[in-house]
Amino acid sequence: MQPGGSTADGPDAIWQPSPNFSARRDGARPDILLLHYTNMATAGAAAARLCDPAAGVSCHYLIAEDGRLWQFVDEAQRAWHAGQGCWGDAGDVNSRSIGIELANRGDHPFPEPQMRVLERLMRCIMARWQITPARVLGHSDIAPDRKDDPGPHFDWRRLALCGLAIWPEPAPAADTTDFRALAGQVGYGAEFSDADILAALRLRWRPWACGRADGLPEAEDMAILSDIAARFAVDRDRRGA
Ligand SMILES: [Zn+2]
Repeated sequence: MQPGGSTADGPDAIWQPSPNFSARRDGARPDILLLHYTNMATAGAAAARLCDPAAGVSCHYLIAEDGRLWQFVDEAQRAWHAGQGCWGDAGDVNSRSIGIELANRGDHPFPEPQMRVLERLMRCIMARWQITPARVLGHSDIAPDRKDDPGPHFDWRRLALCGLAIWPEPAPAADTTDFRALAGQVGYGAEFSDADILAALRLRWRPWACGRADGLPEAEDMAILSDIAARFAVDRDRRGA
């Protein structure tokens, strides 16, 4: 696609090129869509930072609360938004992903105009690169030890209801001794602690349970893991199942 401008049936974007990108390594294609919040005072301030060579960070798109959309990096290129982290066998997440920043400080819900533009943009990106709903992730999923965006106020269920993300269905709770194995099948990296993975899982699927003190998985957490692992195991396609 052409950077910026009107994208097929997608929303119009302001093309503001960032110098903070490189080529995707080893010819990788994006097969992950990674969502963030900016944690900055305004969308304009975030846009400036994402184009500042001194900051050394970027993303492909930024959506303001009022629905204004910027594009900083061509989708074919590797934007610098993910940092250290992993999902399944994807270690260099920047090479494997397209990154979307949402203007929000993480302390309030994401407004309707912003969500509408996000949904339109996601539909185009996912069709263009054949990205499945199971590979639409939060920054907290790939780096649970250091990130919590897009945070507990992001409406993952809304995305799932329009086919743009996944949401757990009721399932029997697995034994808590299976926590690591199931978390690995879902996609969480082996290098992260149980507590960090549990926090990331709750940010996505049980935000009302975020911040519970003991850090131990409950029956509801185990039921979520066993359902997602059964239906969307991260290495399912490689196993040919
Ligand atoms: Zn982030």
